[in-house]
Amino acid sequence: MKTAEIAQRYLTFFEKNDHLIVPSASLVSDDPTLLFTVAGMVPMIPYLTGVVPAPHPRIADVQKCIRTNDIEEVGRTARHGTFFQMLGNWSFGDYFKEGAIRYAWELLTSSEADGGLGFDEKDLWVTVYETDDEAEAIWRDIIGLKPERIQRLGRADNYWNTGQPGPGGPDSEIFFDRGPAYGQDGGPAVDDNRFLEIWNLVFMQDFIENIRGKTEFDIVGELPQKNIDTGMGLERVAFLKQGVENMYESDQVRPVLDRAIEISGRPYGEVHEDDVRFRVVADHVRSSLMLLSDGVRPSNEGRGYILRRLMRRTVRSMRLLGVDVPTFPELFSTSRDAMKIAYPVLETDWTALSTAAFAEEETFLRTLAQGSTILDLALDETKKSGQATLAGSEAFLLHDTYGFPIDLTLEVAEEQGLSVDRAAFDALMQEQRIRAKEDARSRKRQLADVSVYRDLRAEGETVFSGYDELETESRVL
Ligand code: ATP
Ligand code: MG
Ligand code: MG
Ligand code: MG
Repeated sequence: MKTAEIAQRYLTFFEKNDHLIVPSASLVSDDPTLLFTVAGMVPMIPYLTGVVPAPHPRIADVQKCIRTNDIEEVGRTARHGTFFQMLGNWSFGDYFKEGAIRYAWELLTSSEADGGLGFDEKDLWVTVYETDDEAEAIWRDIIGLKPERIQRLGRADNYWNTGQPGPGGPDSEIFFDRGPAYGQDGGPAVDDNRFLEIWNLVFMQDFIENIRGKTEFDIVGELPQKNIDTGMGLERVAFLKQGVENMYESDQVRPVLDRAIEISGRPYGEVHEDDVRFRVVADHVRSSLMLLSDGVRPSNEGRGYILRRLMRRTVRSMRLLGVDVPTFPELFSTSRDAMKIAYPVLETDWTALSTAAFAEEETFLRTLAQGSTILDLALDETKKSGQATLAGSEAFLLHDTYGFPIDLTLEVAEEQGLSVDRAAFDALMQEQRIRAKEDARSRKRQLADVSVYRDLRAEGETVFSGYDELETESRVL
């Protein structure tokens, strides 16, 4: 079953059950505190809080999402994309726990011939919040799920809130058991790789206050209007239905993976680190394309910075797969073709999108070429002076002034039989971060494009911890 068909079945099912179908909002969220739309509920916040009356008490949609905080997982787990689509249904003061659970179960388990997704109920498990007897009873007594298939978990896993005083509530999640080949027995409480989360049903019922931490807060009352907020990962359902190993091999992503394999001439499925790189490329190309199509352009701050990082990690990954010539023309057009049925705008806006993507790749390839020349000189000098270690300050200069990634410095040095003084490099990075943070506080910056990283860290940190991400990069790439 193709991804587009799963989305269609979802919408048809909820439309039939009196939901108003609305189009996806932009990836660029209206909420100034959020860089991107990270979940289907983001554009629904005004309706959920009651600030704006909902156009209908029941809504459903397919929402484009970006989650940069999942970047470390991309290509390593089966289930995390930086871009993905969340199928969502909402009730604003209308149906509550029983309705949400019944709808989810019916859609998942009714046969394909009946318009359902045709999951076998033998493969499904659920979790509920530890004190949510009501939800557990619905699963057990109304749905008829065996009690051992229902697990209770605490706040960290099964309680939703925004981190602010206001609405909160328990949730119930549905998992697919991929089988013993994928991990140990014991349900989702034990293994989140074998037991793959597909759908989260949030029951917004409480008013919470006194927020002291993610799981430290007081439930002080009930909401006057109880709401349902659900989110199901379209790509997760797609890859399970398609019988492939992970979301990067599902039909909207796989063509880019295949194109990268072809271009590199390396095999897929033999060397783990190469496989991760192929999957990172497939994921990041698609995310970049979708961000471009929502009007984001690569730059040195905010959303543009994230886009730039995604594109540059793609270039780095391809390079580590042995390709140092431009690949965006092929990879991006492949992603466009895989996504355009769902997003025809990719084709109509192609000229503008592709121009921006290809220019970014060329700029970064020039940066890499320039950095390589400087690095070769520094390595020669090091050898001539009889040292076996490149000074941390040289690695830092390359990184800081030329935007030349540290992992690349490490790699090239190693090729030439030298090491790099990583401790000194890290210390300089740390100093730089502190400086950048102070700078960012004291002035609003106008950034030149010469350096990729210089001056960026402060912006990055306000976004999703630029440094962690750089660290990640050296690990992932
Ligand atoms: P996980 O625990 O697997 O990281 P999550 O609990 O963070 O998922 P939710 O915030 O509950 O996910 O989002 C609702 C649904 O959206 C999930 O059940 C999943 O199907 C899907 N989803 C979440 N994050 C991603 C992602 N990075 N890529 C693809 N699908 C995702
Ligand atoms: Mg997650
Ligand atoms: Mg989860
Ligand atoms: Mg979840």
